[in-house]
Amino acid sequence: MQSKIYVLDASAIIGGFYSKKTMNFTTAGVISEIRDLKSKIVLQSAIENGCITIKDPSPEGVKELETVLRKSGDILRLSDVDKNIVALAVTLKNEGFKPTLVTDDYSMQNVLKIIEMPYRSVLTKGIKEVIGWVKICKGCKREYPPEYQFDECEICGSRIIRKRVRKN
Ligand SMILES: [Zn+2]
Repeated sequence: MQSKIYVLDASAIIGGFYSKKTMNFTTAGVISEIRDLKSKIVLQSAIENGCITIKDPSPEGVKELETVLRKSGDILRLSDVDKNIVALAVTLKNEGFKPTLVTDDYSMQNVLKIIEMPYRSVLTKGIKEVIGWVKICKGCKREYPPEYQFDECEICGSRIIRKRVRKN
């Protein structure tokens, strides 16, 4: 049986998604995109614990993806980092794994549909996997439920950010 793994893009890492039951992979390019300190700390410890492995796609994986993208024309434009993370999923599939790409990026999800690579988004299903979320105002620290639709605090008007909370 092929073992199931997750391939994480930057939105997955920033969203705090990684599975403790299966291996998680990401690329060096994605790591370099992570700027905020909290995500960096979480990421660093996940790497040290062996939960997340950094791997770059094989040249064959990159070529395979580029062939598909070229055929599809302009619609499927991806950044180099995004291309590499999809190519990593292709590479791992070719190595006999069963990858699922974790991303909230819509254009990446479109590409994944076309190459028939399974994916999931961070916010919907990811929540159950590891931890819960609350939304919290950066200014007055008021908490909002995860379903809260707006970007700004209704009390003070500051930005609302998502915050991870551990279940149990
Ligand atoms: Zn506020």
